[in-house]
Amino acid sequence: MTYTGRFAPSPTGPLHFGSLLAALASYLDAKHQQGRWLVRIENLDPPREVPGAADSILRTLETFGLHWQGEVLYQIDRYDYYHSILGQLKHKDLVYPCNCSRSALKQRHAIDRYDRYCVSHPPKQHEPHAIRARFLSEKHCFTDRIQGIKKSNPDTNGDFIVFRRDQLFAYQLAVVADDEAQGISHIVRGVDLLQETFAQLELQKHLGFTTPQYAHIPLAITTQGQKLSKQNLAPSIEHLPVIPTLVSALTFLGQNLPPEPLSLSSETLLNWASQHWRVEQIPIDPIMIHTATQTGS
Ligand code: GLU
Repeated sequence: MTYTGRFAPSPTGPLHFGSLLAALASYLDAKHQQGRWLVRIENLDPPREVPGAADSILRTLETFGLHWQGEVLYQIDRYDYYHSILGQLKHKDLVYPCNCSRSALKQRHAIDRYDRYCVSHPPKQHEPHAIRARFLSEKHCFTDRIQGIKKSNPDTNGDFIVFRRDQLFAYQLAVVADDEAQGISHIVRGVDLLQETFAQLELQKHLGFTTPQYAHIPLAITTQGQKLSKQNLAPSIEHLPVIPTLVSALTFLGQNLPPEPLSLSSETLLNWASQHWRVEQIPIDPIMIHTATQTGS
């Protein structure tokens, strides 16, 4: 099998240290296996998009020497394709409309696992509604290359939204559709997406798609225990010095360093790191960040 990996950021803010770890880990894993490394901008959700963030992410990847192959794919351009995937699911009777509000779900204790209310009480045609996919498998199990054997939890893996009430495609449908279309064989990303993987396995099964190999890297957290994320305004790494930032990212990922890494160019450092990449050295526990990468100072 030829290796194809990807980094798939949502443009909801600039690249921060946590997303650099995901980008770097997926890049090095691909390069170590002489694979291709693609970048996909997951701009499916215009209301949450920060103007200029996509360009800033791409610029920062280049500054850090993380060069991708081929054209960047933008999800916003792919609605026709997603409609065709949704059509396949409809054709196989694997989806149904749902207009349950969050408060209704809360009242019925159906937030964690949807209770299929709308299967027996379908919304009227003209009513705004989302579309849910049926989660039919009793169990999914996969071996994560970092986290080990992971099993789905029947108490939480319920029917999930693939098309939103506001007429936007949901992450789950688009990510599965694009991973298949781009021939992604290996996914390396943050562990915050581990639970999402089960819905993705379910869609891949419904659609007859290939399931990639997964590796979920630990989260970067602040010294206060907060996840480093765009939502809580983790500082941009755009203007941080490239080599020291790459060196600390490699250290956080449990990787060895060449002698005098600070004297190297990013190209030489990344080449060395890809040759010496050891996925089994990546820690499982959250990585605490307490440097300039946390404060931006
Ligand atoms: N777009 C997602 C994010 O930025 C990542 C999707 C994925 O890697 O599967 O969190």
